[in-house]
Amino acid sequence: MTWVITSLCRDCLDMACVEVCPVDCIVQKQSGDGDWPNQLFIDPEECINCGVCEPECPWEAIFEDEQVPEVFQADIALNAKIVETRDDFEVPEKPDTTPPTPEQVKENKAKWNYDG
Ligand code: SF4
Ligand code: SF4
Repeated sequence: MTWVITSLCRDCLDMACVEVCPVDCIVQKQSGDGDWPNQLFIDPEECINCGVCEPECPWEAIFEDEQVPEVFQADIALNAKIVETRDDFEVPEKPDTTPPTPEQVKENKAKWNYDG
């Protein structure tokens, strides 16, 4: 079991989750590689399944792998894929950000056809 960051994170990136992860396994692709989407990923081999990141995400983008909604199933493999080139990923710095409004969270979910 692991936790998964889904597409709901894309281009949101307030990185509140990074600050609370006790094992620093929430990472971002180093800049300069357009093959990866602009989001964070959880290393499934390092995640200790503590679950503390999930309530910190204002965009509600993090799920336990067994609870990932159907529309985001591909994100499970995408998070797992980072282990193949793990050295290319690093723990990002947290920028100053303003939390999203409930309306923005809803709009972001609608963008992905997710009504959860
Ligand atoms: S808190 Fe949520 S939206 Fe922000 S970087 Fe982490 S997973 Fe992405
Ligand atoms: S479940 Fe715990 S160990 Fe895994 S990514 Fe979230 S905070 Fe880190």
